[in-house]
Amino acid sequence: MTEKMSKDNLYRYLFENASVRGELVQLESSYQEVISAHDYPLAIQKVLGELMASTSLLTATLKFSGDISIQLQGDGPVSLAVINGNNLQQLRGVSRWDGEIADDASLQQMFGKGYMVITLTPNDGERYQGVVGLEKDTLAECLEDYFQQSEQLPTKIKLFADTKQAAGMFLQVLPTDGNHNEEFDHLSILTETVKQDELFSLEAEEVLHRLYHEEEVRLYEPVAVTFKCTCSKERSAKAIRTVSKEEVDAIIAEVGKVEMGCEYCNSKYIFDSIDIEAIYANAPSNDVTQ
Ligand SMILES: [Zn+2]
Repeated sequence: MTEKMSKDNLYRYLFENASVRGELVQLESSYQEVISAHDYPLAIQKVLGELMASTSLLTATLKFSGDISIQLQGDGPVSLAVINGNNLQQLRGVSRWDGEIADDASLQQMFGKGYMVITLTPNDGERYQGVVGLEKDTLAECLEDYFQQSEQLPTKIKLFADTKQAAGMFLQVLPTDGNHNEEFDHLSILTETVKQDELFSLEAEEVLHRLYHEEEVRLYEPVAVTFKCTCSKERSAKAIRTVSKEEVDAIIAEVGKVEMGCEYCNSKYIFDSIDIEAIYANAPSNDVTQ
């Protein structure tokens, strides 16, 4: 009897006899942390879950240390949904919306005329940004469009989310010379058959065995995916310092404190009058020019 391993893992795998690589991600507690920060409508929870799975899958393809974000924006009732991640598979995210969102709302009903913006920010090097319209019915298909446009590599993506878990799969032709579309098409058809229930309840190894039992698959050790917010009292202090001291003093005079909230994790940072004096005392002086 094998004990169920903890969720929140990203798995990479390779086919021994095909120039195709794959990834599988299963998320539970990290996803719960993201959606528990706000009273999100069901449809938005699922979008955030699929975005988390996507970000984890894309992060695993990065060849650099740095950050990645996948952001959906539009002119619909949901103006923003974003997941930020890094090469350590640390993710956080948030969504903003207005009014009622139906449980079965489509991407177009939520985002209106929407876009997906993918931003890759290496610690050393140039930032890269790619944009695709939210023109397909599913986020997975929109991402496939992105890969078709940005890397011109055949890519298959499957994404699932309910209120408890999120999961996804990624299949892509290895960027080598030669034409491997035929073997990719075959593996893609097999990957297409994966069901939400399988990804939510089975071990990665078992999922791969069910999908590709006639193939030779090399499964690598999983990487843990975690929720991690990058906010801090220090960062909030820096944000306060961008406001004039007169304005901040006015708030202190009125309510006795300045409260800064993080919309990603709901942390609250409270600054009293002594904190505020210290923030401005430590601020680099801008009025001394020589
Ligand atoms: Zn935070």
